[in-house]
Amino acid sequence: MSFADLGLSDECLRAVTDAGYHTPTPIQLQAIPVVLQGRDVLGSAQTGTGKTASFTLPMIDILASGSAKARMPRSLILEPTRELAAQVAENFAIYGKYQKLTVALLIGGVRMDEQTKLIDRGVDVLIATPGRLIDHIQNGGLMLNGIKVLVIDEADRMLDMGFIPDVEKIVSMTPALRQTLFFSATMPPEIKRLADAFLHNPKEIIVSPPASVAETVDQALVVIDEMDKRQVLRNILHGEQVKNAIIFCNRKKDIGVLTQSLKKHGFSAAELHGDMAQSSRTETLERFKNREIDLLVCSDVAARGLDIAGLPYVFLFDVPIHAEDYVHRIGRTGRAGMVGRAITFATPEDGKLVAAVEGIIGKAIPRLDPPGFEAKELDLTAGRRGKGRGGRTGGRGGDKSGDRPERSERKGRGGERKRRERPERTEEQAPIAAAAVEAPEPVAVPVEAEAAPVVARQPREQRARDENRDRRGGRDRDRDRDRNRRRDRDDDGDSSNEVLGLGDHVPAFLFAMPKLPARLKEHDGEDDDTTGGRPVTAAA
Ligand code: AMP
Repeated sequence: MSFADLGLSDECLRAVTDAGYHTPTPIQLQAIPVVLQGRDVLGSAQTGTGKTASFTLPMIDILASGSAKARMPRSLILEPTRELAAQVAENFAIYGKYQKLTVALLIGGVRMDEQTKLIDRGVDVLIATPGRLIDHIQNGGLMLNGIKVLVIDEADRMLDMGFIPDVEKIVSMTPALRQTLFFSATMPPEIKRLADAFLHNPKEIIVSPPASVAETVDQALVVIDEMDKRQVLRNILHGEQVKNAIIFCNRKKDIGVLTQSLKKHGFSAAELHGDMAQSSRTETLERFKNREIDLLVCSDVAARGLDIAGLPYVFLFDVPIHAEDYVHRIGRTGRAGMVGRAITFATPEDGKLVAAVEGIIGKAIPRLDPPGFEAKELDLTAGRRGKGRGGRTGGRGGDKSGDRPERSERKGRGGERKRRERPERTEEQAPIAAAAVEAPEPVAVPVEAEAAPVVARQPREQRARDENRDRRGGRDRDRDRDRNRRRDRDDDGDSSNEVLGLGDHVPAFLFAMPKLPARLKEHDGEDDDTTGGRPVTAAA
């Protein structure tokens, strides 16, 4: 079946041809006709499957007739991170190039007044991260009662990041008579509950994760001492004549150190993480995509969903704390059927982390001898290294919530402020992931299932707080807004010095604390350069 059989307009078909697509992907085949019929969709699909076009293409045709009213967008797409939101906006520009639709991007780290001006003019498609969207609604500059099509993308990631209460709030402000498209890579119980609540008689579409990740990514594991990692990396970069690569680090301080070290040794390198102003993040990513920078050293802010055409190499400078992050990180290469190589650096003490990753992908990662160094053996009995990770994990003590797994507290950017990481897997839990060796697909299903009871507790706590907040009334709204802004700033980047498995994402409930020091509030993004709030106007 071809795109022409799916019911899309000639304009959309021309844009698809211009994009170089010949055949619809499975999710496009199944979703596009259903969305065009006006039906709700529950899609189990992750990035890399062609999911974005599966909803943007029919939306463009649905919205082609009619016009937007001031402050009342006609459609809304919720994305968990700024980068994913920006990527969806790019898709509208590509697929909507022969039609006149106004698309606005509402993300944190960009001046609100510029975004307000856009909304005032009326937009057909609003693409937003939850925190910033709520800010605009609370400011009275945005109404959602004109929404005809609502897309909730990457719902499981929203759950991970503690955004579900915000999502519920947003959805409650949209008309009951709307079309809803709901996508999630995994379907833990909390996500199923939301899908039941938001969708009406949806068409369920399940597509397997892109097999290309496993098949076209040549994976390798180097076991070396921590202090030798940088030298070994340079040796591989030279030896394999690596032109472009993303290098993932677990800790932000390592990102800076490694970037400087690479530059010192003559490499073209830049860093990307959640502490950077949105304008620098966008600019750095653009420069990397345009090949103006060869090596991008980054946190998990770039791990999921980012689409960098033809990226040949990914390095994991550290084994991810959460095994499923491995799949997302290596998935940046070997995309769209191209061959890619993913090289992971482990220290002997990372034995259990490696076992968990190998459990998830269902096979051992082939070992690579470190050029110029002697390969070390993994120690499967060792605890996690102490360096910057709070030492060996395994206890549950100290957490006020009592029944949550291990937590790691550390100083945030604000100095005294201590923040809680995403619950870390305890040493007792690690073998559970490792035991899931039979899992046929490179997706974190066993881990998600294991983590679900833990993460599912967060939304309840948040909901309770939300209800309290509503009860408190207007007196406290400003304070709430400050908190929301902090969260929005962090919706795709934490402000910590370290990145553990959570990557750049810290659930909002961690910020339920007394007022933030004034100097932190100054950094709520309002002062940033404006780059992300421009309209992406797809005009003929
Ligand atoms: P997504 O899953 O939406 O992030 O898309 C992953 C990648 O696949 C993007 O680079 C898209 O441009 C590309 N893509 C989407 N649909 C098709 C298609 N039908 N044929 C070829 N590439 C596609």
